[in-house]
Amino acid sequence: MKLVFERGLEGQFQKIMPECDVPVYEGSDAFKREGKLNLPHLSENELSRHYTEIAKRVHGVNDGFYPLGSCTMKYNPKINEDMAALTGFTGIHPLQPTYSVQGCLEALKVTEEYLAEIAGMDAVTLQPAAGAHGEFTGLLLIKKYLESIGAAERKKIIVPDSAHGTNPASAVMCGFEIVNIPSGEDGCVDLEALKKAVGPDTAGLMLTNPNTVGVFDKNILQITEIVHEAGGLCYYDGANLNAVMGVVRPGDMGFDCIHINLHKTFSTPHGGGGPGSGPVGCKAFLAKYLPGIRVAELEEGLVAGTAEETMGNVKAFGGNFLVVIKAMTYIMTLGREGIPEASKNAVLNANYMMSRLKDLYTMAYDVTCMHEFVMTLDKLHKETGISALDIAKGLLDNGIHPPTMYFPLIVHEALMIEPTETESKESIDAAVEVFRNLYHMAYENPEALHEAPTKTPVRRLDEVRAARTPILKYDFNA
Ligand SMILES: *Cc1c(COP(=O)(O)O)cnc(C)c1O
Repeated sequence: MKLVFERGLEGQFQKIMPECDVPVYEGSDAFKREGKLNLPHLSENELSRHYTEIAKRVHGVNDGFYPLGSCTMKYNPKINEDMAALTGFTGIHPLQPTYSVQGCLEALKVTEEYLAEIAGMDAVTLQPAAGAHGEFTGLLLIKKYLESIGAAERKKIIVPDSAHGTNPASAVMCGFEIVNIPSGEDGCVDLEALKKAVGPDTAGLMLTNPNTVGVFDKNILQITEIVHEAGGLCYYDGANLNAVMGVVRPGDMGFDCIHINLHKTFSTPHGGGGPGSGPVGCKAFLAKYLPGIRVAELEEGLVAGTAEETMGNVKAFGGNFLVVIKAMTYIMTLGREGIPEASKNAVLNANYMMSRLKDLYTMAYDVTCMHEFVMTLDKLHKETGISALDIAKGLLDNGIHPPTMYFPLIVHEALMIEPTETESKESIDAAVEVFRNLYHMAYENPEALHEAPTKTPVRRLDEVRAARTPILKYDFNA
């Protein structure tokens, strides 16, 4: 397929704009383009066809089952988009006087309140742009707090090996050191290892819960207690809050701070680069350090101020505002009954799918799972030569997006499956049939599976090269 820059005839649409009839402003040379503005010469019709062609080559939630573990590729109700497209939300400028954007400030305020209520926190900032960005922001809160009480020597963040990969990365970016602790056979944090790890240098613990093997840590109250007793703070990675929202609250489990992924749990489409949103919630004692604007209600109406000892901005203005509008719409449409129902369905769907596969596939942890479960294809691989990757490629030929592969790292030949709450029994049953057929194919006709995918626009790609040396810019001179 041709790239957009390779299509169209040069000079075709030069006169598309009317002649300029106002005096031309001669700006500073420093800001002038030096080379040619290489825009593609395409008509609207051609451009529309180009993007439609690209869209047809991609597998999205609207195409079929998309059980990409930890990513929560659920269906996003279209009403969220309708609300986010209202001109009252899209046609504003962040520097407008606050009296003229009262509705928008109220939207920020109520969304913060909803999320605080769901997470069991006292305050929320909507400014961070993604989950990892939320982690970074939350850890800065912890850092600021420790500095304020003269405990800046606490530099170590404890991260269990079942944590999401962004956890240690964010902590290092904040200047912390990582202490890794192992999980036990049951997929939960090893309490003895945790007790050994804490000490006077402990800044805190970051816990992904449910963790990356889909398990809710049964010792969670003991975990937060051990860390608090040692003088550390507890951070909850709530990216996958769809497993617990409306049922239990991280704030009630002893966590001081949390991030939530609106582009997972709170129904904003994702994949392909955003925009996302990773609000951070915290307990009252951390709130004075929150970044960004804090909406306050005064007599004259809502105003946008900042927190007392704010860390500054982690993103411009109110964050990715329209993502917030989608989350607000989602929470309002589900309401108090719908929020826990959604998480219960996420857990039910994952357990149903796991139970329908476990006579064939080996589960990494044979326990009741939360929103996702992890299979290990180690045995299948040894017996047939068919790897987790081969099964994933086979799924592509059957109209199913592969699960997350080779993650978490603590499980060999891992496939991490998250059906999500928006799949029906019918669609899960159909996916189960595909998984079962592929399993039998591994024994009966492994060569065919090594060939997969055969029905996709491209076959097996050099994934390492794509990740390590991506070409993100068109080279006009090549
Ligand atoms: C997705 C995810 C993250 C990171 O979120 P991004 O928006 O991709 O930065 C962190 N933790 C967990 C558990 C996740 O699932």
